[in-house]
Amino acid sequence: MIQQTIKQIADLLAGGKISSVELCQDYLVRIAAHNPGLNAFITVDAERTLAEARVADALRASGKAGPLAGVPIAHKDIFCAEGWLTTCGSKMLHNFVSPYDAHVIEQFKKTGMPCLGKTNMDEFAMGSSNETSYYGAVKNPWDTARVPGGSSGGSAACVAAGLAPAATGTDTGGSIRQPAALCGITGLKPTYGVVSRYGMIAFASSLDQGGPMARTAEDCALLLNVMAGFDTRDSTSLEREKEDYTRDLAKPLAGLRIGLPKEFFGEGLTGDTATAVQVAIEQFRKLGATTVEVSLPNSGLSVAAYYVIAPAEASSNLSRFDGVRYGYRTPDYGDLTDMYEKTRAEGFGAEVKRRIMIGAYVLSHGYYDAYYIQAQKLRRLIAQDFAEAYKACDVILGPTAPTTAFKLGEKADDPVQMYLSDIYTIAVNLAGLPGMSLPCGFDGQGLPIGLQLIGDYFSEARMLNVAHQYQLATDWHQRTPGGF
Ligand code: GLN
Repeated sequence: MIQQTIKQIADLLAGGKISSVELCQDYLVRIAAHNPGLNAFITVDAERTLAEARVADALRASGKAGPLAGVPIAHKDIFCAEGWLTTCGSKMLHNFVSPYDAHVIEQFKKTGMPCLGKTNMDEFAMGSSNETSYYGAVKNPWDTARVPGGSSGGSAACVAAGLAPAATGTDTGGSIRQPAALCGITGLKPTYGVVSRYGMIAFASSLDQGGPMARTAEDCALLLNVMAGFDTRDSTSLEREKEDYTRDLAKPLAGLRIGLPKEFFGEGLTGDTATAVQVAIEQFRKLGATTVEVSLPNSGLSVAAYYVIAPAEASSNLSRFDGVRYGYRTPDYGDLTDMYEKTRAEGFGAEVKRRIMIGAYVLSHGYYDAYYIQAQKLRRLIAQDFAEAYKACDVILGPTAPTTAFKLGEKADDPVQMYLSDIYTIAVNLAGLPGMSLPCGFDGQGLPIGLQLIGDYFSEARMLNVAHQYQLATDWHQRTPGGF
């Protein structure tokens, strides 16, 4: 059972071989055994999970269930889920039990997919290693002395270790793709606006996007079918026809044009990651694809632009955490201003405070034009680079992250090094494009390497087809860490 795909689990459920309650019990046993070592979950609530599983079994018995009813899933603790503690990895929300469901959670509930628990994450999704969580770092199942990546590190680690068959994540600058790469799983960030942000605690609203994390591209397609859809409660949700993201999975790749951006294959790409990506390119050629060199001349400026725009939006979004409405309030204060100051000083961690200060600075009078407006102009140039590249290719390919999983603590005191973990992923968010990461090999130390695919707007089905065909021809996605 464990380490099966959701497709396989759904077939077992459909054949009456197992019930959702039994499945959830199995996973809860595994979580109890392995979570103390991995710290992948912030909240596990067996009663609640089993209650949701009973609803799913009843739905199946009624004959009205969709194919995924009964398949359990873990949710990143950034998604508000009614009755569940929803912390966003922060002391600021350590006591916040959500009174409502995010749109994404609602969709999974309607489908009858029980929640196995809320996964650990970097505080307010700010980080690339899961070390900024108030609940402590998550350990990478491939080597527990190493980070799982971030900010959706708990989601990536629990899927890699077989504590959940799938999980949700969010990606503002790489937080689905980079942890998927570092943990050897498959993760997809949809086109901006495809998945509603309603009830997904905001970090940088113009960049944030929820998406699936699972073992295979096929599973990601099935999950995206559940997550995607128009929602009037998110003003940036796109009103589009419902799509079936599995529709192109079986298509052969003959004739596919893969773009290789020369900026992704420069001196930053070295060692085993460079080799694994080259081997993957060869594999695609064998599958009938052709490759063409493309250029993203402004992509080198994406990290700089992101660290103006994302903190600017975060400083505004996080102003709501003031000790008045919900979450943490300092126990000891004088007047109202003192209460605000102490609450925010005590409730936020160092990285969140750094971002709020940068954000307030770049938005302030006199600096707004010099930083914020410039960064927005860069953002447009970055999007134009991609548009130009897609004239010559159908999908762009490159590495997901510059390195494999690094040691816990290795980059914790060097924010710039940490920020560079997302050098290949951030441009995608700035342009609003879909991107995904899939396993493509291992380094000399047995750590997984991720391959990134970047599609044009709304080309998720095509990108998933490309990834699925690769996974039919390779078995990297089937490897699992020892000890689980
Ligand atoms: N690592 C990036 C950051 O720290 C991206 C995080 C994310 O995608 N949520 O902001």
